[in-house]
Amino acid sequence: MAAAGRSWGRYPVTTEKVVALSDRHASLPKSDVPVLPLGNARSYGDSCLNDGGVLLAARGLDHFIAFDPASGTLTCEAGVLFSEILDLAVPQGWFLPVTPGTRFVTVGGAIANDVHGKNHHRAGTFGHHVLAFELLRTDGTRLRCTPTENAEWFAATVGGLGLTGVVTWAAIQLRRIAGPWMSAENHRFGNLSEFFELSRASDRDYEYTVSWIDCVASGKALGRGLFSRANHAPASPDSRPAAGNRTLGVPFTPPISLINPLSLRAFNQLYYHRQRKSVVHATTHYQPFFYPLDSIANWNRIYGPRGFLQYQCVVPPEAAETAMAELVSTISAGGAGSFLAVLKQFGDKPSPGMLSFPRPGATLALDFPNGGAPTLALLDRLDAIVDGVGGAVYPAKDARMSGAHFRRYFPQWEAFSRFVDPGISSSFWRRVTE
Ligand SMILES: Cc1cc2nc3c(=O)[nH]c(=O)nc-3n(C[C@H](O)[C@H](O)[C@H](O)COP(=O)(O)OP(=O)(O)OC[C@H]3O[C@@H](n4cnc5c(N)ncnc54)[C@H](O)[C@@H]3O)c2cc1C
Repeated sequence: MAAAGRSWGRYPVTTEKVVALSDRHASLPKSDVPVLPLGNARSYGDSCLNDGGVLLAARGLDHFIAFDPASGTLTCEAGVLFSEILDLAVPQGWFLPVTPGTRFVTVGGAIANDVHGKNHHRAGTFGHHVLAFELLRTDGTRLRCTPTENAEWFAATVGGLGLTGVVTWAAIQLRRIAGPWMSAENHRFGNLSEFFELSRASDRDYEYTVSWIDCVASGKALGRGLFSRANHAPASPDSRPAAGNRTLGVPFTPPISLINPLSLRAFNQLYYHRQRKSVVHATTHYQPFFYPLDSIANWNRIYGPRGFLQYQCVVPPEAAETAMAELVSTISAGGAGSFLAVLKQFGDKPSPGMLSFPRPGATLALDFPNGGAPTLALLDRLDAIVDGVGGAVYPAKDARMSGAHFRRYFPQWEAFSRFVDPGISSSFWRRVTE
């Protein structure tokens, strides 16, 4: 079946044939055109798209294989969603070792992008907690990969953008928790220097740290925002009802983007001032803490039919404060802003994948409505700043970085290409390597 391919950013729109995988023991379908594994399409740009080719939809590989509640070791097929793991594990006192800001990603997708979360400074990336997986190549070869067995294939596949083969199953180590609650604190900060101070002061005692910044503010308030830090709460004596996220939804795509300079300015002002006290303590359920956006189904539709572009970069520690100031003032001056601007400091645990994005430094992620050439020109200006200090842009969020930039951000790309399955390619890979 040919279908219009869309990633989470709904840009670009591609055409591919979709073939569903449902049996991990079966070989991959034969194809004359390149294939690409697909998870739950929560990547924003074109790394999960394959224009003119075939998408192997792995979501149908959705079985749990084994779970040991004593050790927290879980083995499951690669199409299992993080939300399904949480439903199984949290009532038994276990949690994901690392989770991105949505629980609707598959295990295979999380491995292929070596995803990170609010605990990167403590736990590293998702790949650090992968014990083993099976890699199925288009020639029918199956490789069992662990950090020590077929270790090169392990390193190429973790963060390998689905290009080395299809992950059919994986074993992961979960993390112990006492219950579903989080002890959280939100601090209001007035500018970027205050953010860096709070971040440095929090990393030792808090497992999770992240902040939202007002990317419209300028001058002395440049980079002001709300800093959130949290730990899993100890078992609570009062057994509160497990508060799931109430889900609202955007039922259709409006004809134009609802995000424009006026609505952005108003949102950023209101959001910054929604917290009147400088510090607020709260015990909160893990769902709204980790996945605030999951409570609005299809929130990506608010950007209208042209979609949006996400930009996530990392800049090295020594350049972090000045480069962040330059990035935020470029965005604020462009007036293009974002209502979702997230700033965090990564830790220094080396990532396990050859092409993993996380590395020491500060990372900033923002959404931009797709306004065509001016938006692309703004993102090029951001790239010049990131490239100038030796940083990188995250392929899972990208739809437009140049090949030259990709190759500078990921100098290991040539060594990595030796592991690319000759039958596999993606729109992203062709764009940055051809
Ligand atoms: C609201 C939101 C918040 C997010 N927050 C974060 C965050 O905090 N940190 C972060 O790191 N990311 C974040 N992301 C991005 C997301 O975590 C990644 O893009 C993730 O990889 C998506 O997983 P998926 O299952 O949807 O995979 P897809 O997007 O479908 O595919 C991602 C990649 O995985 C490959 N792939 C999929 N399945 C397999 C398989 N079985 N075998 C081999 N390769 C496979 C694909 O080829 C593709 O290259 C966020 C995304 C959203 C929408």
